[in-house]
Amino acid sequence: MSSIIQLLPDHVANQIAAGEVVQRPASVVKELLENAIDAGASDIKLICKEAGKVLIQVIDNGKGMSVTDARLCFERHATSKIRQAEDLFDLHTKGFRGEALASIAAIAHVEMKTKQDQDELGTHIIIEGSKFISQDVAVLPKGTSFLVKNLFYNIPARRNFLKSDIVELRHIIDEFHRVALAHHNIHFTLYHNGSELFNLPQSNARQRIVNVFAGKTNEKLVPIKESTDILTISGFIGKPEFAKRNRGEQFFFVNDRFIKSGYLHHAILAAYDGLLRDGAQPSYFLYLTVPPHTIDINIHPTKTEIKFDDEHALYAILRSAAKHSLGQFNVSPILDFERDFNLDTPYNYQNKGAETPTIQVDSNFNPFQEDKKHNQFSYKPKSENQPHWESLYVGLNADVSDVHFESEAVTSSLFSENEVEKAPTSTYQIHKKYIVSPIKSGMMIINQQRAHQRILYEKFLKNITLEQASSQQLLFPLTLYFSANEIKLIKEIKQSLENTGFVFEEINKDSVVISGLPVKVFESEVSIVLEQLVSDLQDEIPDSNFSQMDSMAKSLAKSLAVKTGTYLTEEAQENIVNKLFACKEATISPFNKTTFITLSVEDLDKKFNV
Ligand code: ADP
Ligand code: MG
Repeated sequence: MSSIIQLLPDHVANQIAAGEVVQRPASVVKELLENAIDAGASDIKLICKEAGKVLIQVIDNGKGMSVTDARLCFERHATSKIRQAEDLFDLHTKGFRGEALASIAAIAHVEMKTKQDQDELGTHIIIEGSKFISQDVAVLPKGTSFLVKNLFYNIPARRNFLKSDIVELRHIIDEFHRVALAHHNIHFTLYHNGSELFNLPQSNARQRIVNVFAGKTNEKLVPIKESTDILTISGFIGKPEFAKRNRGEQFFFVNDRFIKSGYLHHAILAAYDGLLRDGAQPSYFLYLTVPPHTIDINIHPTKTEIKFDDEHALYAILRSAAKHSLGQFNVSPILDFERDFNLDTPYNYQNKGAETPTIQVDSNFNPFQEDKKHNQFSYKPKSENQPHWESLYVGLNADVSDVHFESEAVTSSLFSENEVEKAPTSTYQIHKKYIVSPIKSGMMIINQQRAHQRILYEKFLKNITLEQASSQQLLFPLTLYFSANEIKLIKEIKQSLENTGFVFEEINKDSVVISGLPVKVFESEVSIVLEQLVSDLQDEIPDSNFSQMDSMAKSLAKSLAVKTGTYLTEEAQENIVNKLFACKEATISPFNKTTFITLSVEDLDKKFNV
C-alpha cells in the first residue's frame, strides 16, 4: 500500500493553529495588546470597528521591530521571547509561543507598521491569508501599529459563528479590562466606531480599578496584602454588602497575567463564608506574584489557565489573607435587606461581655392595682385637642414596638441620653422611612434619613469649625490602608478630621493608625466612614478650606445618618423632629433635598371632599 501521510502546507497549518488561538475578535485584541506590553510600550491605543469584525487596530509606542524581524514575526513558532525549553519555566513576558501573529495573518487582512527608535525609517508590511502582499520602507513614529481587517474572511463558518456586535464588543471590553487592570502603569485608550470608550491614564492599582469600573468602586474595596516565600498577594476585595448577583468583577492576576482559576475562586468564597447572601458574588482584584518556575503557563493555548506547583498552599494563604482583610476592616454586611435585623446584636453590645443578671424587687408592688401602662391597646390621647385620627395608629404602634423589641437598642443609641427630650406630641413612623407628626394646622411628614443628615451635618460643621468635638478612645488602635494619593489627602485634612473626634496615632506611607473616634462613629463603621470621606473629597477637589470642611461634614452626615429602612423608637423619632427644627436650615438636607412636607387640615378636607 502506498504511503498517504503528507506534511500540511504552512498556510493550512497556520489556519488550524488559528482555530486554537483566535476564537473571536476579542482573542485578536488580547494577543495584540500583550505583544504591545511585551514591547515595553507606555501608551497603547486600541481601535475597533463593528465589534472588531471589520477592524481591530493596536498602536503602541514600544520598541518596534527591525526590517528582518518585521518579516519573521509572521512565521509560525517565531518568537523573540524564549530560546530553549527551560525558558518556559522562567517566563517574564506575556507571549512565548510565537503563534499569535502567524495565526492572525492566516485568517485576516493584516497591515503592520513598525519602527525601532534608532532606525531612520520603518517597515510597512501587508499580508493577507498568510500571503505577503507588499513590504515597503516608510516614515513612521517609534513603535508598532497592527491593523487587522475582515477577521475570518476566508473561514465563513467561523465568521457566521460570531455573535452580535453587542456580545462581541463585550468580549473585547472584557479582554481590555483584564490587560488594563494588570498594567496600571500603562496608558490605555479604547475607541469603538469612532467614540472613546475608555481613556485610562497611568495610575496606581486602586485608581486603575476605579477608572475602569467608575462609579463608587473605591468605597467598595478593602485592601489585601500578604507576603510569603511562595506567594505575594496584593490588591483589593469587595465589601460583602456590595456583592453582586453576577461574577463580573472577579480578577486573578498571576505575575501580571489575568488567569481563571475555579480553585482559587473557591478560596476567596471560603473567606467570605457567612458574610454573603445566597448566590451573591464578591468583587475581587487580586494580584498574585509567584516564582516563575513554580507555574506552568503552557497548558492552554490562550494562556488563561495555569498550573501551580503547590495549589493547596496557595489556597490556604489566599483564604486566610482575604479573611484577615475582611476582619481587619471590620466589614460586616450592613446593607443586607434580607437579614432579620431583630436577630442582630446591637452595635453597642457587640464588644461587651455578658453581664450577670440581677434581680430587683419592687416592694411597692400591689397585684390588685390595675396597671394601665402595660395595656398597650387602651389608648388615651395625651391632650384633649389632639386630632382623633391618631387613634387609627394605636394598634399598629403597639404591634411595631412589640416586634422590634431588640432593635430599639440600636436606634435609641443614636442619641445620647441627655439628647432625648420628650416632645409634646406623639410621632409615628411609617414604612421605616417617614416620621409623621401632628401639628396645630394639620400634620407634618418628615423624611427620617434626610432630616438626620441635616442634623448631623450642622453638628459636624460646627465641630470642625469650632474644634470642639469629643472623642472616644479605642482599646486597640485600628490600622486602615489607603493609596498614596489618599494618604496625601488624609494628611491635608488631618486637622479637620481631628476636630470631628478622630485621633491619628500614625500616618504612614500606605496606612493610618487610628486610636480615637468621633463619639457617633462605631468602630465597625470607621473604615467605611473614612473611605467614603476620602473618596467624596477626591471626587470633589474642593477649592477652599471652607468647602473642604463643608464636604467633610456632608460626607460624615451621609455615612452616619439613619437610613431609610431603619426602625426608630418613638424617642428617636421625636428626637429627630426636635433636633431638625433646632437646625439653621431645617427645610432641606445638606444635599438640597426636601426634609419634610406639611399637610394642612384643609388639604386633608379637600381630599375627603369635606
Ligand atoms: P509571541 O508573542 O508569543 O512571541 P507573536 O506571534 O505574538 O509571538 O509575536 C512574534 C514576535 O513578534 C514577538 O516575539 C516579538 O518579537 C514580535 N512582536 C510582535 N508584536 C510586537 C510589537 N507590538 N512590538 C514589537 N515587537 C513585536
Ligand atoms: Mg504574542
